[in-house]
Amino acid sequence: MSYQSVNPYNGEILKRYSSHDQAKIDQSLDAAEKLLNSDWSRKNLEDRLALLKKVATHLREQKEPLAQLMSQEMGKLIKQSRGEIELCANIAEYYAERAPEFLSPQKYPSELGEAWVEHHPLGVIMAVEPWNFPFYQLMRVFAPNCAIGNPVLLKHASIVPQCAEAFEKIIHDSGAPEGVWTNLFISTDQVADIIKDPRVQGVALTGSEGAGSSVAEQAGKYVKKSTLELGGNDVFIVLDDADLERAIKVGCQARLNNAGQVCTAAKRFILHEKIAEQFKQGMIEAFQKLKMGDPLDESTSLGPLSSSSAVENLHKQVDQAVSAGATLVLGGKPVEGAGNFFEATILENIQESNPAWYEEFFGPVAQLYVAKDDEEIVKIANQSHYGLGGAIHSQDIDRAKKLASSVETGMIWINSLTQTAPELPFGGVKRSGYGHELSELGFNEFVQKKLVVIGA
Ligand code: NAP
Repeated sequence: MSYQSVNPYNGEILKRYSSHDQAKIDQSLDAAEKLLNSDWSRKNLEDRLALLKKVATHLREQKEPLAQLMSQEMGKLIKQSRGEIELCANIAEYYAERAPEFLSPQKYPSELGEAWVEHHPLGVIMAVEPWNFPFYQLMRVFAPNCAIGNPVLLKHASIVPQCAEAFEKIIHDSGAPEGVWTNLFISTDQVADIIKDPRVQGVALTGSEGAGSSVAEQAGKYVKKSTLELGGNDVFIVLDDADLERAIKVGCQARLNNAGQVCTAAKRFILHEKIAEQFKQGMIEAFQKLKMGDPLDESTSLGPLSSSSAVENLHKQVDQAVSAGATLVLGGKPVEGAGNFFEATILENIQESNPAWYEEFFGPVAQLYVAKDDEEIVKIANQSHYGLGGAIHSQDIDRAKKLASSVETGMIWINSLTQTAPELPFGGVKRSGYGHELSELGFNEFVQKKLVVIGA
């Protein structure tokens, strides 16, 4: 596996890294195990929380260079990169503040005696993470596990090695003892070996369905706890009574943030037939106004995709969708020249027999569906293998709430796009995975809960 940093805006190779060998893996596992059995993991909660606060401070102090690095390495618009660093600092602070409460013993009234559940570290965790939020994805694993006392080994996506290195450095420079967080430039086979290792107790993966399935298979085989945050095919439902201007604005944003490379991006727009045409025209207009360009340029509104293979895959998916009967309303192809740019694209008339109906399009491609009533909206929404996020736009909140309860998904937002915050649980159902990250739910995934009873 080659770890290489390439600027997606111009194809320039920024840095190459050699892979880590078995000796480095063994040394990392030893350090992690040693830390797990030390006072730092078992007793010194205050030290762990102080580390989180320091990491938050360092992130804010270095926001600009870190944001620039992210934009150069994976093409995120600079404003969004700055927002991601701020969000990471907020997550670290959230757990620094809330962990003492989450870790305190919980009483369980029982006739059998005085009973309570204690919270302990589960053990060493393997994290496998994607490139689309190069810092935020790591923070979602680092912050809770640091507070719990679980040492973490990371395999980041091979196209963002500089971000992986920078994140590790921030933690190291904040005074973390060896083993708290170790970045490894390793292959998927090496990940499988690490999951198998008796020193490891859990694995957290965010990524595609294929990667999730393979990691979960290994975790299942060796009886290790796993969480999977996988892909999505989120709906963006617009009812006939929606504030249409707002729905168009938010819908375009929900599709195009991060050049459309977001697991919870709005991918399937299900439009009530009464407003479908107006919505479509509004979206066409908004997409035509986009300015493609350098992600570091503040005026750019659509950046490049993360890699040339991402462009190829997306192009293939759009071509296949059209061959299978979809209508191309706008865009549909890569932009000629240097950089991994893909036109903002709109597809409609996608029938269930079209593979596009079930696929995740990881880029600026919107699918439009038209439905005659709420029942048909729910039917289309639930005809999906995924169930990550979703959005419903309506001025009738009771009607929107009914739909929200009927759509099969892990998260759903009314009159908003799907967002994220440290205090809100994040996770999907169906092939979008299982388990949660963030909030108390995410915190509890890798906590060992031990029942203690004083017999009556
Ligand atoms: P990906 O190919 O699955 O890569 C994600 C990570 O998994 C990378 O570190 C990758 O390493 C590694 N990986 C790939 N195959 C593996 C295997 N067999 N065993 C172990 N590790 C493996 O995903 P991607 O295309 O880069 O990322 C986009 C996907 O992630 C989309 O489906 C998106 O929806 C999903 N995602 C989900 C969430 C969520 O919270 N639900 C958040 C963000 C993204 P290499 O880079 O070395 O291949």
